[in-house]
Amino acid sequence: MIRKIIQTTKGIPVTDGAGVKLTRIIASPELDMVDPLLLLDRFETENPDDYIGGFPPHPHRGFETVTYMLEGSMRHKDNTGNEGVVEPGGIQWMTAGKGIMHSEMPEQDEGLMRGFQLWINLPASHKMSEPGYQEFSGDHIAREDTERGGIIRVITGTTDKGTAGPVINKLTDPLYLDITLTPGESFSQSVPQSHNAVIYMIEGEVAIDDTNLCHEQLGVFGDGAAVQITSASEGARFLLMAGKRLEEPVARGGPFVMNTRAEVLEAFADLRAGRF
Ligand code: FE
Repeated sequence: MIRKIIQTTKGIPVTDGAGVKLTRIIASPELDMVDPLLLLDRFETENPDDYIGGFPPHPHRGFETVTYMLEGSMRHKDNTGNEGVVEPGGIQWMTAGKGIMHSEMPEQDEGLMRGFQLWINLPASHKMSEPGYQEFSGDHIAREDTERGGIIRVITGTTDKGTAGPVINKLTDPLYLDITLTPGESFSQSVPQSHNAVIYMIEGEVAIDDTNLCHEQLGVFGDGAAVQITSASEGARFLLMAGKRLEEPVARGGPFVMNTRAEVLEAFADLRAGRF
């Protein structure tokens, strides 16, 4: 059974960090979450005033943050000793676990900055695990070329043709693909029934069953075993993201995502006590 689109959203403008202008696509009043996807932010601006402040040191607990850069460079640094620059096409996949303190700052003072940050929940059993960290530059992201000239960049998960992404995550078994299709090209991919899935349009237009999606729209897929996406006459580029539903209570508190309010308060208490 092919999955249909059950909801669409364009997100809302927000400011986060030290004055960074973003579009919040998941974790908005229209779309709270798509279990286990807790939040999706897009940043796209040529105006340094919109990004120069970056995200100075701040904590996270209980989930994973995934930064995917399309244009521009971002330097990250955390208190477990990881530091690096995410450049165009690169991915940084941070498992905050029981707690991490990190900063994410632009490695440029002019020019285009464009990319995404996704938050993926951790199961209750792993919210207090040791922090983890996976980072891959653009040339280490797996690539699959379609017969018609389309390009599938595989960050995590495995395509139906067997191309596997470098990021490993057994907890929510995510799929994260950046797909470029030539005009009128179809792409299909199996997505387990246990998973929720979304598509985010970067460029162009696609048809999914009887729904058309265009530039800067997110579509939430309903149930099914596979997705089938056909690009319109201009071709299209989009992200396909999926993860296994956790079906656990979610308690959010700023940079912490736990299962109960008490656990969120404990995270704030640990932060004040310098335990991050
Ligand atoms: Fe962060």
